[in-house]
Amino acid sequence: MNKIPSNIMALASNTSNKRETVCIFGTGDFGRALGHKLIQSGYPVVFGSRSTQTSGLIPKDAEVLNHAEAAQKAAIIIIAIQRQHYNFLAPLADILHGKILVDISNNLKINQYPESNAEYLAQIVPGAKIVKAFNTVSAWALQSGTLDASRQVFVCGNDMGAKQMVMDIVRALSLTPLDQGSLLAAQEIENYPLQLFPMWKFPILLSLGLTIFFFFYCLIRDVIYPYVYENKNFSFFLAISIPNRICPILALILLALVYLPGVLSAIIQLYRGTKYRRFPDWLDKWMLCRKQLGLVALAFASLHVLYTLVIPIRSFVRWRISTYIVSQALNNKTEPLDTTNAWLSDSYLALGILGFFFFVLLGITSLPSVSNNVNWREFRFVQSKLGYLTLLLCTAHTLVYGGKWFLSPTSYRWYLPSAYMLSLIVPCIVLVVKFVLILPCLDKPLTQIRQGWERNPRYSE
Ligand code: NAP
Repeated sequence: MNKIPSNIMALASNTSNKRETVCIFGTGDFGRALGHKLIQSGYPVVFGSRSTQTSGLIPKDAEVLNHAEAAQKAAIIIIAIQRQHYNFLAPLADILHGKILVDISNNLKINQYPESNAEYLAQIVPGAKIVKAFNTVSAWALQSGTLDASRQVFVCGNDMGAKQMVMDIVRALSLTPLDQGSLLAAQEIENYPLQLFPMWKFPILLSLGLTIFFFFYCLIRDVIYPYVYENKNFSFFLAISIPNRICPILALILLALVYLPGVLSAIIQLYRGTKYRRFPDWLDKWMLCRKQLGLVALAFASLHVLYTLVIPIRSFVRWRISTYIVSQALNNKTEPLDTTNAWLSDSYLALGILGFFFFVLLGITSLPSVSNNVNWREFRFVQSKLGYLTLLLCTAHTLVYGGKWFLSPTSYRWYLPSAYMLSLIVPCIVLVVKFVLILPCLDKPLTQIRQGWERNPRYSE
């Protein structure tokens, strides 16, 4: 068991009145910002620096000493220095023996070095207790006090007592410590600030690829074809008509792709007869970005709603309506109301409105502030049951859009079906497979498997 030195015990027990001195090595941007925040929170701060002259930038209540003198004044030393300068700590190894060294450093690239900066620090000062913390907080956020965006401080280290004391300091600064385990987690923590929307990469690239595909598909069918065969110039379709075709198509496909990994994992589990075997990597990654896929889908659905709202004020639409009225007047003939068409059109709109309503509801429940306030069963109910209902409504909305022309040979241009027909493939597959999976003969074994039952148990009792 690790023995906690007496100076550290004193700091641990001192929770209220006077706080123990904290030493910061380095008077750079981060060192100064952290020093300022620590002083505000009641900690005496001593800086260890190459130059002991104070400047106007250094918090005025802090002391500035050379590294050796400063280290002797505190049990916790925060190393606010870039990793490439850590060598200067080697001669101080005796003074730093038994002290808690907090590594806050970041790198310029993901996995830049074979070992994490914190582990490297542990190699240079083997007698010290190394804790990784604060690297995901920026100096600017500390200085300006706008820490709302990220109050979380990831902490890891091999010495429980040392880690606990660093977490106490984190709490005293009104931040939230998140214990990530041993120092082995340091490399991952150091990679966090370098990641660029990791969960959004796949959904954004996928929607970009699909947008490009459907853009050219619609361009060929709706602009180039009428130009070639009917000598009609519909190039203005590029502004509203084509985007308003692409948006609902992408919304529907992406929404179906949120639920497709769920049905695939169910098939895999049924086939293997166990849940204790890992899914393929691609499926794991896909499942992890379902929320982001759903939110991108919602963004496309919202754009579709906006594009649809402007349809009545479009010049082309107004021209078509007036031409129709004039032709009726010229022929002295009024077209009777086509009730079937009226039904189809109203059903199409009603399904779209309901689908969008549930889509928005799904989006709202995925917000952390909402999802944190519902229990697991409620969350699953919304995301699974309401999710499938949304997919069903949106798929039905698209099916009814085709109405009487759905699958009609006249809707093919250059043998290409309408784009909305392509958009129905994935949702229909997901819904049909889901329907099959909820049949009792499959649902029962699947539920048992998810509760831990195995067809061929690997470890028999
Ligand atoms: P900085 O402004 O460049 O300051 C680094 C300090 O290190 C210098 O002011 C200097 O302090 C000391 N130093 C420089 N060369 C040295 C050497 N050869 N030997 C000993 N000490 C030396 O850097 P920073 O932005 O404060 O960042 C410090 C650490 O915090 C880095 O590891 C960085 O990755 C991490 N970090 C920074 C931020 C941020 O927002 N800036 C956020 C998270 C983590 P003295 O002149 O007093 O000796």
